[in-house]
Amino acid sequence: MSITTTTIAASTTSTLITNIASLVTNDSSLGDGTPIGLIQDAAVVIDGDRIAWVGETRKAPATDNAVDAGGRAAVPGFVDSHSHLVFAGDRTQEFNARMSGRAYSAGGIRTTVAATRAASDAELAANVARYLAEALRQGTTTLETKSGYGLTVQDEARAVRIACDHTDEVTYLGAHIVPPEYADDPAAYVALVTGEMLDACAPYARWIDVFCEQGAFDGDQARAILTAGLARGLQPRVHANQLSYGPGVRLAVELGAASADHCTHLTDADVDALAHGDTVATLLPGAEFSTRADWPDARRLLDAGATVALSTDCNPGSSFTSSVPFCIALAVRDMGMTPDEAIWSATAGGAAALRRQDIGRVTPGTRADLVLLDAPSHVHLAYRPGVPLVSSVWRGGTRMF
Ligand SMILES: [Zn+2]
Repeated sequence: MSITTTTIAASTTSTLITNIASLVTNDSSLGDGTPIGLIQDAAVVIDGDRIAWVGETRKAPATDNAVDAGGRAAVPGFVDSHSHLVFAGDRTQEFNARMSGRAYSAGGIRTTVAATRAASDAELAANVARYLAEALRQGTTTLETKSGYGLTVQDEARAVRIACDHTDEVTYLGAHIVPPEYADDPAAYVALVTGEMLDACAPYARWIDVFCEQGAFDGDQARAILTAGLARGLQPRVHANQLSYGPGVRLAVELGAASADHCTHLTDADVDALAHGDTVATLLPGAEFSTRADWPDARRLLDAGATVALSTDCNPGSSFTSSVPFCIALAVRDMGMTPDEAIWSATAGGAAALRRQDIGRVTPGTRADLVLLDAPSHVHLAYRPGVPLVSSVWRGGTRMF
């Protein structure tokens, strides 16, 4: 099956990638007709920064340039819709201690807050660039990232400003935890987050987020924070139900949040809300891996009809991985996802969690974000865990390596 909906313009350079053993398009009208729209012996035409054509190699049109994929599989660039890259410092000792038997609590964030406040702008920017490059090498072509380790007006504003230099998907997370200086008066901190800090951060952010959790922010505080963000044009997403049952997921759905992230402790009512609402359930198995916690139940969410995304939660405390392939392998091994579901969730699912139509698929008109794997099938991402299978990446039509 092949389709042509875009006439390939002579004015821009077009490239034909041919001899792709199997191509995940995430368009169920293509290929095998499944949600991942798998095409065997496929070819892709990139024109400028867009996908211009996909189909079988034997039907491919002529182009300016040609690349032989050598029988590799191709998948859409990964969409990592949840990370915390604006930070400084290191929590190796905390991880080491936890792996020696101590439980994780939200309080560890304070260690990174202190290091981040003490860092220079250049140090923070270099960290973001470094981890973005690390993610790209592993196939990530879109990455959301958050503030949340500054927790003063100045430090949060600097975090979103730095993030803004590196990605369009910036989230204001002043409500990560209540900083130590407000420990006796959390209401005053919520007032700051919804007032002066919001004013300073809103110009640089697309999203507002809150860690709705015991020890962080309760349901009423989270509602006030997200509502204030909405009033300033920021769209909500929520750290919800990670460490315990709570109101986060239902609040996210009620407010029309793009995503409820973690979803590890869910009641039937939470699952039902996600299944019938407009909010993606973003699962972050790197966090459960790194804290030896119980896995979120992806199977339960999928069977109920929820839209599921998979992301890394890359952060120095509870999930210090930038590897989407690693998260795919965990999701397949431990969370009841099939390989097809996991690849969909890490691409089209991530795009849905960012309310993006232009990424997460390889179909005509979408942004040309494509990953070639040193493997004949996307299934190898779970079948060969820990192996660096990413061979080449195109982002926005440019071959990055
Ligand atoms: Zn997070």
